[in-house]
Amino acid sequence: MRIGPPLIRRCSACQGFFEETNIQSTNTFGACLWTDGRLMASMCPVGDWLVKCPHCEAFLWIDEQEYLGEFPDDFYPDDIDPDDIENGNFILDPDDFDPELKNAEHYETPSTDEIFSVLEKGELPENKERHLRVRVWWSENNERRYMFADGFDDHEIPLSDRESGNIKRLFGLLDHSGEEDRIMMAEIKRELGEFEAAKELLEGPFPRRLTFAVSTIKDLIDKQDPFVAPIIVPPGAEREWNDEDEDVEVIYDVFVGDED
Ligand SMILES: [Zn+2]
Repeated sequence: MRIGPPLIRRCSACQGFFEETNIQSTNTFGACLWTDGRLMASMCPVGDWLVKCPHCEAFLWIDEQEYLGEFPDDFYPDDIDPDDIENGNFILDPDDFDPELKNAEHYETPSTDEIFSVLEKGELPENKERHLRVRVWWSENNERRYMFADGFDDHEIPLSDRESGNIKRLFGLLDHSGEEDRIMMAEIKRELGEFEAAKELLEGPFPRRLTFAVSTIKDLIDKQDPFVAPIIVPPGAEREWNDEDEDVEVIYDVFVGDED
């Protein structure tokens, strides 16, 4: 993973400056994809769309915040020297420089509770609601993931009311005609313990790159197992799979924020 100099944006609520990590390249070596679509990959972090302003704590859609530019590679906010600005040592246009840039801090990532509070307020466009519901689905499944990865049997944690309410709402936002959405719908039904409905959603042909997701979820349905699990890729298959489709790491990723 290559990280570039921080990107700087301005909060539309308080006009304060904040930083965004500038991820220039990622890879998925050693990554593990889970049945809920979450890719656990240290070299391929999930991008944040909804963020929290480090100054005023407003929740912000990051791509809707004014973009000012990026700092140079060796830049740290505390090091700003106005003389450097004068000398043009910044990638940011010196005309745009504001002494307040010294106060730029990295945005905060909203907690699961905070995302639920945003969802409860409603009035979100469907794509944003869908994004947030997938996010909290994943984050609430993390405890099961960690337990599973550590070999503990007690990853079998029943869904809370909040979790089941969330994935039921998410189900209604998915598009049955899309193959990836249909796998997510099947996974939601499976996690809700509605195994017959889950099985029906997995009928019909799927593209080859989705084969392992489908077969893993089908096996779990047969075992009447409703808990999130890693997608099983047979030894030797992964390489062929990756070569075939570079989009493999975003099978169910619904991050749709615009790139600058
Ligand atoms: Zn703010």
